Amino acid sequence: MSKRDYYEVLGISKDATEQEIKKAYRKLARKYHPDMNPGDKEAEAKFKEVTEAYEVLSDPEKRRQYDQFGHAGMNGQGGFGGFEGFGGFSGADFGGFGDIFEMFFGGGGRRRNGPVKGADLKYNLDITFEEAAFGVEKDIAITKNETCGKCAGTGAAPGTKPRTCDVCHGSGQVQYAQNTPFGRFVQTRTCDKCHGSGKIIDQPCPSCHGEGIVRKQKKIHIRVPAGVDTGSRLRVSGEGEPGLRGGPPGDLFVYVRVKAHKIFTREGNDVICEIPISFPQAALGDEIEVPTLDGKVKLKIPEGTQSGTYFRLRGKGIPDLHGYGRGDQHVKVVIQTPTKLTEEQKNLLRKYAATFGEHPQGVEKGFFEKMKDAFMG
Ligand SMILES: [Zn+2]
Ligand SMILES: [Zn+2]
Repeated sequence: MSKRDYYEVLGISKDATEQEIKKAYRKLARKYHPDMNPGDKEAEAKFKEVTEAYEVLSDPEKRRQYDQFGHAGMNGQGGFGGFEGFGGFSGADFGGFGDIFEMFFGGGGRRRNGPVKGADLKYNLDITFEEAAFGVEKDIAITKNETCGKCAGTGAAPGTKPRTCDVCHGSGQVQYAQNTPFGRFVQTRTCDKCHGSGKIIDQPCPSCHGEGIVRKQKKIHIRVPAGVDTGSRLRVSGEGEPGLRGGPPGDLFVYVRVKAHKIFTREGNDVICEIPISFPQAALGDEIEVPTLDGKVKLKIPEGTQSGTYFRLRGKGIPDLHGYGRGDQHVKVVIQTPTKLTEEQKNLLRKYAATFGEHPQGVEKGFFEKMKDAFMG
């Protein structure tokens, strides 16, 4: 569904002043207010739309962003990879508009009495490089709300039952009329006696003190698949906070963080490592041992290998998270210059250098030719 332009929604021009924005919003909010249009879904949608437009355009910083980037600039703000929309707004559940009701209609607001899905929980899981590569199973402990087992969530002491509130007759809300600058409104507000639950508990459950929920630590078994990386998110269905009024529980989101490895780094599904070799090994060639995720393997260094050369070990990388085979390992060989030579070794090197005559130490002539050219202009 494409979103309408906020200025269009409020019927104002792009250079509208703060006063004009406010005025336009008041007019539309009054027209589409849910209390003025009970049960009218279209009015409710319109009301949300104008309210959202107002929220953005009345805030100079948000308005600037919107002017620059449009709706795209409004997404993912303060959210986790677009997980929550802008300022927790995208849920567009009523209730979120409390401030605006407060501002224009003076207190009250609406309460939903239906089932509500429980909140999602977030857990950061640190794993090693190898665990990320091959997968791992972990038991994690999370603290969350659980329905009280003693009273089965009713909040009433065992053997007793909550009774219906006599003030609001179980609705949790009371209605009252209020005069505002925009006219007379019938407002609803939360019932004082039962605090909106619609029920009175005479004898609270001793275990949860009448809340119906208790804080508990729960162990959860997590299966981390092979190939995950930092930023991978695993969803454990139904392990979030319990729902309200019979709503389903939320989900648990496990965010993976992979610890740095001593030798390996990762690029996609490829593993990169750097191996030091000596100048004689590079010059004469050798066979060296290279660590991989599967243990050591032999790698042939050909005669005349330059420092910084990469060798590929096919299929020694990380298994693809979606099952598309394995990446490769790239081994970068780096020639190490010795720093602690004995007198004998130094003499051997001097003799070696002398075999090249005029030209410096067996280095390719090409570079020096180029340097000469550069200085001669
Ligand atoms: Zn209880
Ligand atoms: Zn009540």
